[in-house]
Amino acid sequence: MRRHRVAYLPGDGIGPEVCDVARRVVDAAGERFGFVVTWDEQRIGGEAIDAHGNPLPAATLDACRSADAVLLGAVGGPKWDDPSASVRPEDALLGLRSELELFANLRPVRAHDALADASPLRPEIRAGADILILRELTGGLYFGRPQGRSTEDGVERVVDTLAYTRPEIERIVELGFELAEERRGHLTSVDKANVLASSRLWREVVNELAPRHPAVSVEHALVDATAYLILAQPAHYDVIVTENLFGDILSDEAAAIAGSLGLMASASLGTRSTDAGRFGLYEPVHGSAPSIAGQGIANPLATVASTAMLLRWSLGETDAADAVDAAVDAAIEDGPRTGDLGGPDGSEAVAGFLLGRIGAAMEIPA
Ligand code: NAD
Repeated sequence: MRRHRVAYLPGDGIGPEVCDVARRVVDAAGERFGFVVTWDEQRIGGEAIDAHGNPLPAATLDACRSADAVLLGAVGGPKWDDPSASVRPEDALLGLRSELELFANLRPVRAHDALADASPLRPEIRAGADILILRELTGGLYFGRPQGRSTEDGVERVVDTLAYTRPEIERIVELGFELAEERRGHLTSVDKANVLASSRLWREVVNELAPRHPAVSVEHALVDATAYLILAQPAHYDVIVTENLFGDILSDEAAAIAGSLGLMASASLGTRSTDAGRFGLYEPVHGSAPSIAGQGIANPLATVASTAMLLRWSLGETDAADAVDAAVDAAIEDGPRTGDLGGPDGSEAVAGFLLGRIGAAMEIPA
C-alpha cells in the first residue's frame, strides 16, 4: 500500500464543500488503485485570521512543507473585506507562493462539446480546443522592486518593476518544453519582445533550450496578438508558456473557451521533488463564492479536476489521475448539473456521480 501526505486547506466560503467532495473522490481512487492519503487539515485565509489573527499560520506552512502536495479550497469573503484591515485572507496566497517557491502555474482549458451553450464562442471556433497555459508565478511585475508611489518636485509618480533572472526564465521554459513533450508537442512562447528587454531575454532562452527538445515545435508570439488569436483560433494552441502578468490575463481570458469558471482547475508547482514527482499546490480557479456558501449547490468539479493533477504530478498516481479525469469528463458530458452550468442539481448529486464512476472502475481489473 503506497502512502502519501497532503496538506488539506479548505479555507472560506464554498472551499470546505468543494474540498470535501474532492477528498472523497481521491480516497475512493486510493481504494481502487492501492494507496492511502493522509489529509493534514489546517486553517487558511479568513478563518485563520479569526482563529489566529494570521491568514497563513506557522502550523499551516509547516504542514505544507512536510507534505507531498497541498489541496486548497478558496480564501476570502465579505467578513474580511475591510480595506483598512492590516491583514487580508488573500495575503495567504502570495505567502504560500513565495514560501513554497511555487514558480509554475498550470491551467488546463478544454472545450467540452456538452458546454457549447455556456461559452460565448461559436461552437465551430471552440471545437477541439485543449490548451495548457503555463504562467510564471514568482517573478515579473508582481514581485519586482522598486515598487510604489513617491512625489518628486511636487509631481506624483509611481513605479513597478518587471524583473527576471535568467535561471527563473530557464526553469519555467524548460517545464514548458517537458509538458509539450507529454502532450501534442507544440509550444507557444508569449512575450512582448518588440518592446520589453525582459521579453528579449525570454525569447533568447526559449531559442537556446529548443534544440534539447527536438520533438517540440516552437513558435514565438506577441501577447497582444495572442489575446486576440486565443479566442479567434483556440484549437491552434497546445502549451502556452509566458511570464507572470501576461499569464494572469491570458488564463482568465481563456476561461471563456471552457464556458464556466466552476470547471477551471489549476496547479502551482514548486521546486522541491517528492518521492513520486514534484511538490505542488492544487486549487480551483474560482474563489470562495460567499453568496452560495453552505447551500450545497457549489460545483465541485474544478476542485476534483485539480486533484487529478495532484495525483498525477505530485503523487505519481497516474492510473488514479486518469480515472478521476475520466469521471470529471463523464460528469460534464452527461452527469448532474449544478446551477452555474444551468442545471438544478446540488454538490452531493455530482459527488455521487463521481464516486459511482470511480467505483465502477473498481470492477475493471487494474
Ligand atoms: P468567485 O469565483 O468566488 O465567484 C464568481 C461567481 O462565480 C459567483 O457568482 C459565484 O457564485 C460563482 N461561482 C464560483 N465558483 C463556483 C462554483 N464552484 N460553483 C458554482 N458557482 C460558482 O469570485 P468573486 O465573487 O469575485 O470572489 C469572492 C471571494 O473569493 C472574494 O473574497 C475574493 O477575494 C475571493 N477569491 C479567492 C480566490 C482564491 O482563493 N484563490 C480566487 C478568486 C477570488
